[in-house]
Amino acid sequence: MTTRRAFIRLCSSSGTVLAVSAWAQGTAPGAAQLPLLSEQDPQAQALGYVADAARVDKVRFPKYSAGQHCTGCQLYQALPPSSSAPCALFPGKKVAAPGWCSAYVRRQA
Ligand code: SF4
Repeated sequence: MTTRRAFIRLCSSSGTVLAVSAWAQGTAPGAAQLPLLSEQDPQAQALGYVADAARVDKVRFPKYSAGQHCTGCQLYQALPPSSSAPCALFPGKKVAAPGWCSAYVRRQA
């Protein structure tokens, strides 16, 4: 059985903490080279993704409320300021900071 202390020691010695931190900041190697998610992507369309939350279809997505955007979402994998970052829902792509989709989950403070 792995103790908490052993787990933390393992993570520290392997550099995992640094890698996860870099990933969370959107600075992981390769993150900058990821293409932006297209609104025409089938998964993006299914989730109502738009690169600018001002263009959300409020009839189709009544749960949207003003002020929601990717940078305020738990699935956005960088902290502001960033113009785009990977999103856990769209592997291999970056989403626009002012974007939005119906999977939005408010980031906890
Ligand atoms: S899940 Fe969150 S970060 Fe990803 S596209 Fe939707 S609103 Fe943006």
